[in-house]
Amino acid sequence: MVNWLILLKFKKKLFVLTFLLFAQTCTANHNLFWLHANSGLWGFFGHKRINRVAIFSLPPAMFGFFKENIEFLTEHATDPDKRRYAVEGEAQRHYIDIDHYALGGKNPFEEVPKKWNDAVAKFSEDTLQAYGIVPWHILVMKYRLQKAFETKNVDLILKYAAEIGHYIGDAHVPLHTTENYNGQLTGQRGIHGLWESRIVEMDAENYDYFVGKSNYINNVLDFSWNAVYTSHMAVDSVLRLEKELTATFPSDKKYAYETRGQAVIQVYSKEFCDAYQLLLHGMIERRMREAIIAVGSIWYTAWVDAGQPNLSELTSTPPSPELLKELEMLNETFQKTEHKGTICDD
Ligand SMILES: [Zn+2]
Repeated sequence: MVNWLILLKFKKKLFVLTFLLFAQTCTANHNLFWLHANSGLWGFFGHKRINRVAIFSLPPAMFGFFKENIEFLTEHATDPDKRRYAVEGEAQRHYIDIDHYALGGKNPFEEVPKKWNDAVAKFSEDTLQAYGIVPWHILVMKYRLQKAFETKNVDLILKYAAEIGHYIGDAHVPLHTTENYNGQLTGQRGIHGLWESRIVEMDAENYDYFVGKSNYINNVLDFSWNAVYTSHMAVDSVLRLEKELTATFPSDKKYAYETRGQAVIQVYSKEFCDAYQLLLHGMIERRMREAIIAVGSIWYTAWVDAGQPNLSELTSTPPSPELLKELEMLNETFQKTEHKGTICDD
C-alpha cells in the first residue's frame, strides 16, 4: 500500500490527489492510513541539526553573528524542501541522478562535465534539469551568499546561509545521487526515509558532532562534485545491505506502527533500524559529519571571498519583518498541503 505514497517526479498534482483520495478512503474505512513516516530529505530534523552544528565550526569573526541567529539558521534549513511543492524548478536543485549518465557501463563522473556550460553543451539544459542539478546549484548559492556578505545584507546572508546548508546536506545523502532514489527500482520503497530520516531521528543524539574547524575551499564546484561522488560511492551499500537484511529479518518485525494524531502510520521498527545501522558501520553519522563541516566551510569560504566583512556590525540587526513574513507564508502554504514532510518524492 505504501507504494501509493511514493510520488514519481513531475507527478506532484496527481500524487496529491491520489494521496487525498487514498487517505480519505482509508480514514473512512479504518481510521487508518499508512505513510512512510519521516521520509523527508535528511528529514527536517537532520537538515536542522546540520545547519545548527555547522555554526560551531566557524572562526570567531563569523561565530558571533551566526550564533546570534542560530534559531533562524536552524529553523530555515528546511525552507528549500517547503518550496519544492510550490516553486517550479526547485525540486531538481536537491539531487542529481548521476547514474542516469552511466549508460553502457561508463563512469558517469567522467561523462558529465563538471562545469555547467560544458554539461549543457553536451547534454542540454533540459536533460540536466530533468536529472537534477545539485552540484551546480551549490555553486550558484555560494555566489549569492558571497554577494550578500559583500553588501552586508542581513536578510540575504541569513536566507542564503540557511538554504545553502540544505543543498549541501542533500548532496551528502547517497540516495540523492541515484535514479533509484527510494529503492523503487529494486523493491525497496521507503529506504530513502529509512536512511536519512527514521534512523537519524532515532540516533542523532548519539552522534559525535565535534567536526573541527571549517576550512577555506579553493574550488567550490569541485568540492560539491566530490560530495556527490562520495555519496554515490555509498549507494550500492545502502541498497544492498538493506536487501540482505530484509532477506534474513523476520518479516513481521520489519515494521512497527505509531500513532500520529488521528492516524496510525507504518514505520520501520527500531529493531530493523538498529540492525541496518550495524551493517552500515556508522555511515549515516559519517555522512552527517561530512555535511556539517562542508556547510561550515562553504559559509566560511563565501565570507572570505566577500572580503571578510566585519559581521560584528550586524550582530544587533535581526532578520526583517518582511523576510519573516515571507517565510511564514511559505510555511503556511506548505502546512496546508497534505505531505508535511512525510513523503519522499526526491
Ligand atoms: Zn532537499
